[in-house]
Amino acid sequence: MSTSSIPFIDLKSQYADLKTSIDGRIQAVLDHGQYIMGPEVRQLEEKLEAYTGSRHCITVASGTEALLIALMALGVKAGDEVITTSFTFAATAEVVALLGATPVFVDIDPVTCNMDPALVEAAITDKTRAIMPVSLYGQVANMDEINAIAARHGGIPVIEDAAQSFGASYKGRKSCNLSTIGCTSFFPSKPLGCYGDGGAIFTSDATLAKIMREIRVHGQERRYQHTRVGVGGRMDTLQCAVVLAKLEKFDWEIAQRIEIGKRYIELLSAVAGVDAPTVGQDRDSVWGQFTVQADNRDAVLERLKTLGVPTAVHYPIPLHFQGAYKDSCRIVGSLKHSERAASRVFSLPMHPYLDVQTQQSIVKRLAEAVA
Ligand SMILES: *Cc1c(COP(=O)(O)O)cnc(C)c1O
Repeated sequence: MSTSSIPFIDLKSQYADLKTSIDGRIQAVLDHGQYIMGPEVRQLEEKLEAYTGSRHCITVASGTEALLIALMALGVKAGDEVITTSFTFAATAEVVALLGATPVFVDIDPVTCNMDPALVEAAITDKTRAIMPVSLYGQVANMDEINAIAARHGGIPVIEDAAQSFGASYKGRKSCNLSTIGCTSFFPSKPLGCYGDGGAIFTSDATLAKIMREIRVHGQERRYQHTRVGVGGRMDTLQCAVVLAKLEKFDWEIAQRIEIGKRYIELLSAVAGVDAPTVGQDRDSVWGQFTVQADNRDAVLERLKTLGVPTAVHYPIPLHFQGAYKDSCRIVGSLKHSERAASRVFSLPMHPYLDVQTQQSIVKRLAEAVA
């Protein structure tokens, strides 16, 4: 194996495996020609409802659109506050700011990099309209604790940003079906990806589901009856067809991801200077990213690059340091764990087709890079 041949993710092997099904489903859409809201859209939603156990699935144009529509459905508007974390992808806070509301940042648990529930209560004010934990890297946050705090404060809605965790389990339940609303992304590199942009919203609240279906299509209750302000937020029929095909192997892929994650953790236990991720007993991670931590991260990444191991940093700058949010967010307490994580994290190649030898080779080169 040449040192340059390790891919960070491997969509080519996945396509080779599913080619007949993917090609067939795409051809079927080309044949029927219903590119917008074709039959595959509802078919996919039904499959995802069954998969998550959530009563309602609404496919949308992206994970970002899913979060935006969820907040719009909850009536989030200028002057409101949404509690979330700073150590996440920008979209989490972006949708809050887009609506004129304030992202309120609490710190993460340094072990999981997910929202620390113990910090949430102090962030709640009479302006709080939602709490939005992120299931970062594919491991669900402490949703039960967060739900309980939200319930104690008059039933504040909880939105799970599950863009990286579709397929993950938490206490026997599925990510996206753990709170008022769950939002995921089908961006190609996510655990369940399409061939472009796509996403989905989940809720078991029929009223919210109806509102979100309307917001998805310009706030239409019926054709040309616009009862509320909405967006152009539909997921393409072609993308739904791709996800339908990928669902055929999704259980296998999730099992592979979990297995590969366990193997990484085992191999990394022998490497001094690298902190492997930790997964709670009552949940698993689908490893949307397999992210480790080390001191002198940037130097380690330089060396890994010369050793032929591709890496990525999720995420190098917490959102409270970003130009778009630094003056408009509200920070509660210290964000020291978010800041420390941003300086130390990096992600290793992770996909269901990663074989044992390649994994061993990656960890060997990582040991060299930190030595
Ligand atoms: C990918 C991602 C999103 C946005 O999803 P898109 O489909 O790219 O819009 C939101 N939040 C998190 C945590 C993500 O990783």
